[in-house]
Amino acid sequence: MIVCKFGGTSVQDADALNRFLQIISARRDRHPIVVSSAMGKTTNHLLEAAQTAAAGKKQAALDLLTRIKEKHFKEAQKLGVAVGDDWVSETINAYFKEIRDLVKGLSALGELTPRIMDAMASYGERLSTVILTQLLENQGLPAQLMDARECIITDDSYTRANPLFDLTEAAILEHFGPVLQSGKIPVFQGFIGRTRDGITTTIGRGGSDLSAAILGAALGAEDIQIWTDVDGIMTTDPRMVPEARRIKTISFDEAAELAYFGAKVLHPATIIPAVHKGIPVHVLNSYKPDQEGTLITDQGQPCENPVKAIAYKSGITVVNVASTRMLMAYGFLKRIFEIFEHFKVPVDVVATSEVSVSLTVDETSKLWDIVTELKKIGEVNVEGSKSIVCCVGENLRNVQGVLHIAFIALQDIRIQMISQGASAVNITFVIDDERLPEAVRALHDAFFKIIDKRVFE
Ligand code: ASP
Ligand code: MG
Repeated sequence: MIVCKFGGTSVQDADALNRFLQIISARRDRHPIVVSSAMGKTTNHLLEAAQTAAAGKKQAALDLLTRIKEKHFKEAQKLGVAVGDDWVSETINAYFKEIRDLVKGLSALGELTPRIMDAMASYGERLSTVILTQLLENQGLPAQLMDARECIITDDSYTRANPLFDLTEAAILEHFGPVLQSGKIPVFQGFIGRTRDGITTTIGRGGSDLSAAILGAALGAEDIQIWTDVDGIMTTDPRMVPEARRIKTISFDEAAELAYFGAKVLHPATIIPAVHKGIPVHVLNSYKPDQEGTLITDQGQPCENPVKAIAYKSGITVVNVASTRMLMAYGFLKRIFEIFEHFKVPVDVVATSEVSVSLTVDETSKLWDIVTELKKIGEVNVEGSKSIVCCVGENLRNVQGVLHIAFIALQDIRIQMISQGASAVNITFVIDDERLPEAVRALHDAFFKIIDKRVFE
């Protein structure tokens, strides 16, 4: 059995839905389970309607809902779904009645809580999966619409709820058992769940991948396929370096580093449930279903190239803290990190010397509060407009002279920080934003002079 997860663009309109049908039909004998995101930008639009309503613009919000509804009907109808008084039309109409009621409530209240945001956002996936189920049926593929809220049980951190794995696994086994027995294709909403008290939650933007991984892990799937609109994981951002190549296989550790540093393919936390069970994850392009995409596995594979990929994050801020009191003292780093922890701001890269510490942060909304606290410890200076460039590869640990290659590539660029973690899966440089394109190109040229055809397309 395999889990096939479709992202928003892979179900955004009738053309995408047709490709979805072909993909599932072609995998029929592998017993697919469908997990879907909301169609296209529906999640954004629903949240926008909620915000608009809460801001007192009720009519504008209702108009937006009408457009979302028409879009769903229009694309479904192009494929012969929701064309009459069927259950799909009825369900869509019923959902929109509920959404309109929510919106009216919001405009009366003038306040939007995270809990209501989740209630609103949940309709995106609920709508898309209703349509997908009937599409499969019309194609002669018996399908069963599931309710993810009965399976993904979470805490109550609305908008970013954490699945409670034991409860979730038990609920998945209970609800999927009979359906899998029946031979029907289960159709499951990504992204949504509910608390133990039965209140709808969402597990964070882009959370459908995580839903797919949880499902695949709980059911012991043979493969988890993430269908998206890119060719897979690339050696770097092809918009920056047109020579970027597709990576055929990559390890979980490498993929996690990359995802973290901006390769938008999937969120690192997403694949953890799959990693634990050693289930392979494929990233595939729904526009080119015959292409092999990228396979993420827990087995490292031999590769001549020390670096598999180069990712980056720009608009980073560097915070430097210096104190002569740090000399020979202990507890200094702890105090610094406690301040970041207190303000719940993650730190990405850290470099220390005997009397100073440099850290990078992505999020600057709390920065001045943090700096105020840090000033009690030492001298602080803050530099914005920096970029992190991260070279990732399991092989970095084995190949000699990697830093030499990197330094030569970056010889004309001022490097502000360097870090190489203990796992040695990455080497990270912090440079000025304006030098970023140049740096990424130079590193890509340097590390991909030769190409190991076993690993790269
Ligand atoms: N529909 C949700 C979002 O747009 C979840 C997802 O697509 O994975 O974030
Ligand atoms: Mg997505």
